Amino acid sequence: MRLLMIGLLSGLLASGPAACSRHAESASQPKAAIRVLCSTFPMYLFTRAVTQGQAGVQVELMIPAGMGCPHEYALTPQDMQKIASANVFIANGLGMEEFLGEPLKKANDKLIVIDTSEGVGDLIVLSPEPQDEHKRQAAPKEEGHHHAGSNPHLFASPKLAARIVANIAAGLARIDPAGAELYRRNAQAYADKLTQLGAEFASALKDAPKRKIVTEHAVFDYLARDCGLEIVAVVEEEPGQEPSASEMLDLVKSIKASAAAAMFTEPQYPAKVSRTIAREVGIPVAVLDPVANGPDNAAPDYYEKTMRANLATLIQVLGSKVK
Ligand SMILES: [Zn+2]
Repeated sequence: MRLLMIGLLSGLLASGPAACSRHAESASQPKAAIRVLCSTFPMYLFTRAVTQGQAGVQVELMIPAGMGCPHEYALTPQDMQKIASANVFIANGLGMEEFLGEPLKKANDKLIVIDTSEGVGDLIVLSPEPQDEHKRQAAPKEEGHHHAGSNPHLFASPKLAARIVANIAAGLARIDPAGAELYRRNAQAYADKLTQLGAEFASALKDAPKRKIVTEHAVFDYLARDCGLEIVAVVEEEPGQEPSASEMLDLVKSIKASAAAAMFTEPQYPAKVSRTIAREVGIPVAVLDPVANGPDNAAPDYYEKTMRANLATLIQVLGSKVK
């Protein structure tokens, strides 16, 4: 999950990747196409929907589709080459791309970054303190660093995904005024679908008899808020970092005390630890897919289909009636 190729990266930077790749391509490309590079899989899906039908726009995904959230991701030489030849970079924002900044500028100082979280209000603050302060004081975590700030997983809420899509269209319209109308039209049509999907979640789970859940990492906070569900615990406080044995015991205790109804794991992380905790607590486990990752060449309706499967899972596990 974590690629640390800093040595390679600095070597590549020193050799200046931007210049050579640009020259090589300008000869074979008759017209300057707009190359849009998306940082994550969901950004890629949304940008593809917005730019659909616009000739001359090339949408590419930077990190592998199957990888998932790029928390603490380090850019690879391949990434740097993609950045060097891109015109626009579509970012999740809110600290998801900690690699944004200097490396990006060095590889391509003309790159225009669209932060898709811009203007989205009512953000959920990631707690810098764990639920159990006592535990944390007794055994502070040395490795890694805690991600205080706003929760960056807007994309896992269809309602907020509609905002992301609108931001992508507005950003692209500024860069490519000729395509502005199409971007806005595409975005409106797609955002309508997402808003409708968000409404389905909210209405189907409104009266769910069970409302307390445990998730693997903080990816479903916005979706849970949309549906009125309460996330009582998160297994991986640091994304991708499994809890220690004593943290697991504490989790089991606190989840038992919270009367959580179910544990939800994600395809992007191994579920072994979460399954063990759920078994100890005695609650069911099911998979919810935040669409943080997915297949190469995902179908245009991949996000909606995956989210509808999530909704069916939530209804089944939490015992809600479909209206
Ligand atoms: Zn994440």
